[in-house]
Amino acid sequence: MKVLKFGGTSVGTPQRMKDVAQLINDGQQKIVVLSAMSGTTNSLVEISDYYRKRNSEAAGSVINKLRTKYMQHLEELYTQEETKQKTRALLEEIFIFLHSFAGCEFSDANEKAILAQGELMSTNMVTNYLLEQGVKVLLLPALDYMRIDEKGEPDTHFIKKQLETLLAANKHYDLYITQGFICRNRMGEIDNLQRGGSDYTACLIGAALRTEEIQIWTDIDGMHNNDPRVVEGTQPVRQLHFEEAAELAYFGAKILHPTCIQPARYARVPVRLLNTMDPTAPGTIINNEMQRGSIKAVAAKDNITAIKIVSSRMLLATGFLRKVFEIFETYNTSIDMVTTSEVGVSLSIDNTSRIVPILEELKKYGTVEVDDNMCIICVVGDLAWGNVGYETLVTDALRDIPLRMISYGGSNHNISFLVREEDKQAALQALSKNLFH
Ligand code: ADP
Ligand code: ASP
Ligand code: MG
Repeated sequence: MKVLKFGGTSVGTPQRMKDVAQLINDGQQKIVVLSAMSGTTNSLVEISDYYRKRNSEAAGSVINKLRTKYMQHLEELYTQEETKQKTRALLEEIFIFLHSFAGCEFSDANEKAILAQGELMSTNMVTNYLLEQGVKVLLLPALDYMRIDEKGEPDTHFIKKQLETLLAANKHYDLYITQGFICRNRMGEIDNLQRGGSDYTACLIGAALRTEEIQIWTDIDGMHNNDPRVVEGTQPVRQLHFEEAAELAYFGAKILHPTCIQPARYARVPVRLLNTMDPTAPGTIINNEMQRGSIKAVAAKDNITAIKIVSSRMLLATGFLRKVFEIFETYNTSIDMVTTSEVGVSLSIDNTSRIVPILEELKKYGTVEVDDNMCIICVVGDLAWGNVGYETLVTDALRDIPLRMISYGGSNHNISFLVREEDKQAALQALSKNLFH
């Protein structure tokens, strides 16, 4: 069995939905994870923002625009009046639900319920299309098996048990369609795996069922060696080690959700990145093989804040680092980069929601400096310390860029730099020129 995930652009129009249906309907049993149609989750975020600002009129107008679009899609997608009616009734219910928050108090739980509607719509639309084509397909509701715990981490035991039970009770289908991104939390409320989370859904399913492969189908021919939105002439990388891919995803390669590679890596299920717009293109395979002696790719993560704490005792007394890290742990804020000197430590975070109390506490132990609007540039490849020369190649490329932090030696695959966001483009371009041309 394989798991295939199709992203927003892959199901972004009625024609694309038909193409995906054709691609997956090859007689081999598989689980298919779908995102919302492209743009839908952004519209749902916009609707929630208006409700939060108590502007029900603006929310209503975004909902109506979305409704018009979906009703048009439905006419184009199906040939049989019965399928049109069935799908129309389901979509209408969803649009009534979206309107139902007008004039009410609006909570985080309401927002999560709203954000889930995109995947509920796309999966129902594709399932009904496949049923119309006579395919033996079952819609597997993600809300019945995908769950996160109190820390927002996937509850892998629950996911595995529920999925196995659901599949055992429904053996004789060719295709199982399910929603990416959405889940329930410990309280049983609708929640999600964060933006871009459909990749994570696919990898969690693949890991839980130890499938043969996890395929992530998107709008580009695999992982490129640099961010194609920023640098021209990037090239696909044909193979990555799990750890290389995990670092690239975590440090900003948008093609993969930041933490989706972890479950696949622990379960040792290979992940293949493929292009829906060009299905025969080779894409990228992510597995346990390490190619020696090459730098593979570069990624960048924005909205980073750097914090420097200089110990007030002028010496890095025993326990200083522990105290610093404990403060971040108390406020559930993870640290990305760390560098130390005799008297101080610099570190970087991307979640600043608890920065005020964090800074208050840190000031008890020393002088604190903050730089925001920073960006982590992460270079990935065979960067074990015994491989001489690669660090020089990388730092040489960045010779004209002010570097706030450099981190090397934490893994065999990565060297990271902290630069100002305004220097990101120049840094990425210089790295491509020096490393890949
Ligand atoms: P989907 O909707 O299928 O999940 P995403 O938009 O989330 O697709 O991810 C695919 C996009 O990621 C590409 O269109 C590309 O612009 C962007 N991207 C950023 N960095 C990379 C990279 N290193 N390699 C490939 N694509 C990347
Ligand atoms: N639809 C969700 C989003 O836009 C999840 C995904 O596409 O992976 O973030
Ligand atoms: Mg995505």
